[in-house]
Amino acid sequence: MPLLPLHGHKTLRSRFDDAIARDALPGSLLLHGPLGVGKQRLALWLGQRLLCSGVDPRPCGRCQHCRYSLAGTHPDLHWYFPRPRLKDSDASPAQTEEDFRDAINDRLKTGAYGPPPPEEGILVNTIRAIVFSAAMAPALAARKVYVVGDAERMVMRDGAEESAGAFLKLLEEPPSRATIILTTSEPGALIPTIRSRLVAVRVPALGASDVEAVLAEPGMRDAVAAAGAPSRVDEQVRVANGAPGTLLSGAEWGDARARARRLLDAAAGGARGEQSRPGRF
Ligand SMILES: [Zn+2]
Repeated sequence: MPLLPLHGHKTLRSRFDDAIARDALPGSLLLHGPLGVGKQRLALWLGQRLLCSGVDPRPCGRCQHCRYSLAGTHPDLHWYFPRPRLKDSDASPAQTEEDFRDAINDRLKTGAYGPPPPEEGILVNTIRAIVFSAAMAPALAARKVYVVGDAERMVMRDGAEESAGAFLKLLEEPPSRATIILTTSEPGALIPTIRSRLVAVRVPALGASDVEAVLAEPGMRDAVAAAGAPSRVDEQVRVANGAPGTLLSGAEWGDARARARRLLDAAAGGARGEQSRPGRF
């Protein structure tokens, strides 16, 4: 299956369009907002938008770049997220990329996926693979895009200093042909040296009609049923509360949401305004 179609987020999409038209899109972005609202899907849309070689309105959905992007196979649209520790703790970038190909195929079985289990993280081998890949020229498109989901799960210790330094430098000064998009529902839990290098963009909850449209996608409908969500659509829309992904993981979401809210509340009590770059676009 391809990625689920993107519904909603129209205001943000036109903001991104405007920024791209003015060549003013920041090289490294942080999309933050409620769990299950579709931040990674929106980031992948932005990636497809940047790689598309069709005519406006882009993404055209028909060019080679769009087709590969939607299939999760574009060699210049990279997607990373928390993964279990690999058996070989010193996995090479090639082994890591192979692990991600399998993981992305898993996510695309239905196109719908819940949050990664708590023990999974974005570990040093993944950070190393990103840094390694970003140093190379694009394979097919004019540029490369990196999407890193659940970025608050990034672990930068256990001898990862060298990779961490290279990753921070990458965020600070992305190569001219690269765009790096991190997403998180817990911006307060993001490593501060990472957060301070990103231009933050808030992704709001979806309206009820967009939630309904997401829930009507066959892959989503099946996944929601398998997760034991209420069967009536109006009830699903009410429980989703603007974030349809919350229906995919039952009780786990309740805990995660409560944790996220506590962190956000704690962060709001501090100097939250200082934590991201004040960049505008
Ligand atoms: Zn296209």
